[in-house]
Amino acid sequence: MERASQTSRAVYPGTFDPVTYGHIDIIKRAHLLFDEVIVACAENAEKATLFTLEERIAMLREATEGIAGVSVEPFYGLVVDFVRTKKINVMIRGLRMISDFEYEFQMALTNRRLDDTIETIFMMPSEQYSFLSSKLIKEAAGLGATGLVSFIPAFVEERLQRKLHRR
Ligand code: ADP
Repeated sequence: MERASQTSRAVYPGTFDPVTYGHIDIIKRAHLLFDEVIVACAENAEKATLFTLEERIAMLREATEGIAGVSVEPFYGLVVDFVRTKKINVMIRGLRMISDFEYEFQMALTNRRLDDTIETIFMMPSEQYSFLSSKLIKEAAGLGATGLVSFIPAFVEERLQRKLHRR
């Protein structure tokens, strides 16, 4: 298999509804290995998201601004199609606990069937984020939890509270 380009580049796809410090941890770790990391934010017709695509992208951009080599882009449809159009052959996924494994394993092998030239690489976050998910944060905030700044940036919490409680 040939390397697609000289500069090492990877795509980190996800829904990011909203971005958490777990995602940011993976982005930074990926950036230690790859010159360029494109964070690809899914339109996601299947999953109902709390935030719109534009809102999720704006938060990702704000959270990663200042990290040279990291950019954020939307994608529609199959992730392998997006990765291929970028002429990239590495996709990053984060692995938290064993519970992530089955789904991620299935998806990685399905994506490999769709395009054998694209490899999925799994990265583990720092243990303080290994139980953190966007879903958990949305549930906690929905039930009235505040002070979530050890899990999400303050500006994300503000938007989350506003969205959930129209404050
Ligand atoms: P999905 O793409 O499955 O809708 P997310 O947008 O929440 O899920 O996450 C994108 C990627 O980041 C996935 O690979 C997911 O496993 C990973 N991820 C999510 N939260 C964390 C975390 N706290 N630590 C490490 N990886 C994470």
